[in-house]
Amino acid sequence: MSQELNLKDKLGLNVFKPDKQHHVAIKPGRERDPRLLMAISVCPAGLYSLGPEGKVELTRDGCLECGTCRIACGTDVLDWNYPAGGAGVQYRFG
Ligand code: SF4
Repeated sequence: MSQELNLKDKLGLNVFKPDKQHHVAIKPGRERDPRLLMAISVCPAGLYSLGPEGKVELTRDGCLECGTCRIACGTDVLDWNYPAGGAGVQYRFG
C-alpha cells in the first residue's frame, strides 16, 4: 500500500543549507508596500504572510529559489539573488 504525500510533506523532504547572506529579503521600509501582497498568494512554499501590524513578513527557511516572488513583486521591494554555490535548497524526490 503506497502512502501519498501532500504538498507540505513533499516540501519537508527538501534540505536547505544556509547562506552567509540572505538571498531573498524584503527591502527595509517596504514591509507595507502593497506590491508585496502578491507574494503571499504566489509563493509556492507559503513563506510570506501578513503580520498583525499590516506588515508582510518573510520566513526564508524553505525557499525553493523559484524566483516567483521576484517576478510578481519586483526588485523595488525585494532583494533577490541566488545563494552562493553549495548553499540553498537541495531537492529530494519521494
Ligand atoms: S523564490 Fe519562490 S519559494 Fe522563495 S520566497 Fe520567492 S516565491 Fe517563495
